[in-house]
Amino acid sequence: MFDVTKIRADFPILSRKVNGQDLVYFDNAATSQTPLQVIDVITDYYCRLNANIHRGVHKLSQEATDAYEGARKTIQTHFNAAHSHEIILTAGTTESINLIASGYSSLLQNGDELLVSALEHHSNIVPWQMLCERTGAKLKVIPMTQEGTLDMSAYESLLNSKTRLVFVNHVSNALGTVNPIEEIITKAHAVDAKVLIDGAQACPHIKPDVQELDVDYYVTSAHKICGPTGVGMLYGKETLLNKLPPYQGGGEMISTVTFEKTTYADLPHKFEAGTPNIAGGIAFGAALDYMNNIGFETIASYEEELLAYATNKLREIPGLKIFGEAAKKTAVISFNIDGIHPYDIGSILDQLGIAVRTGHHCAQPIMDYYQIPGTVRASFAFYNTKEEIDRLDAGIRKAIEMLQ
Ligand SMILES: *Cc1c(COP(=O)(O)O)cnc(C)c1O
Repeated sequence: MFDVTKIRADFPILSRKVNGQDLVYFDNAATSQTPLQVIDVITDYYCRLNANIHRGVHKLSQEATDAYEGARKTIQTHFNAAHSHEIILTAGTTESINLIASGYSSLLQNGDELLVSALEHHSNIVPWQMLCERTGAKLKVIPMTQEGTLDMSAYESLLNSKTRLVFVNHVSNALGTVNPIEEIITKAHAVDAKVLIDGAQACPHIKPDVQELDVDYYVTSAHKICGPTGVGMLYGKETLLNKLPPYQGGGEMISTVTFEKTTYADLPHKFEAGTPNIAGGIAFGAALDYMNNIGFETIASYEEELLAYATNKLREIPGLKIFGEAAKKTAVISFNIDGIHPYDIGSILDQLGIAVRTGHHCAQPIMDYYQIPGTVRASFAFYNTKEEIDRLDAGIRKAIEMLQ
């Protein structure tokens, strides 16, 4: 079945040393590591295919176009979108959200309401604040609870006929909470509001079905799913994407251009101005293939095992408090130690070769809610092991000894 030693051999970086120690990489929620199967695709692209896409008559351009459009199909199949032109390839989650927020500038009116959740990453807050400044729409916040979940009854009372858009992450990057997006979507649709789901933190662990969810927009980044940085996607329902104006103007996104009038290309090209990250897009497809070969159920059940193991161990450490204790969470542990700044713990762990994240994790409102400056976050992937968690446990204990 699942052989983690064999999996780890796919990731060259996992065998490097940091500060003289074997690397323990527990910053997967910030970016995941890249397997050879994906690195090889990038190398192969530059060794064999490198050419601009969609425009050349020559062989290289055709092969590069086929590979890029093939990746779009792979992404479509993975998310079960009805059409491949509903998959817009972007620079990542941040750009995907900005694309939608920018498009709604001309679709909103003063007095319209937008709902954001208290659990969001800054990239799912700031573009909407900017949109509100442009349009006079109002941003309202779905509050969170002490366990790090969303207050769903407050959500229901915030929804009304003025609500135009709801944006929530599928999984919180700071706490690991899996949000009840099915319910969020159904309730929003009941008042005719559209929903954007930020899937950046969910996609490494969960395989979403956009048609079954009936979600309006779903966005993610490749670099958290074993793919390269600087590439990601926006899924949108065809009818909605057709109503949105283009995001950027330039080559590729036009049908005809004269100085009097320009007409735009059809989906998906309308939203893909300029030369894209071609190798990145192809590698995004390869990363999904790699993950699907292992299987998302296998990944999820192994990671659950890691999470339970780590939670039980870390809970035994005196003075350690875990933030985010939702019943449904991914393999993320956000914690603090009484009287010690998260940064100091992180620095000592780094000395021991253990990579964790410290700080507000681009989710300052969550830290404000708990009235803390930040947390230490250990986030696990399917290539991590229990032995590595033992090293984290020992490392935290050592840090406490040194700092107290
Ligand atoms: C990482 C992350 C983002 C930002 O993704 P980028 O790749 O930096 O654009 C947004 N939301 C969540 C929940 C994330 O985890």
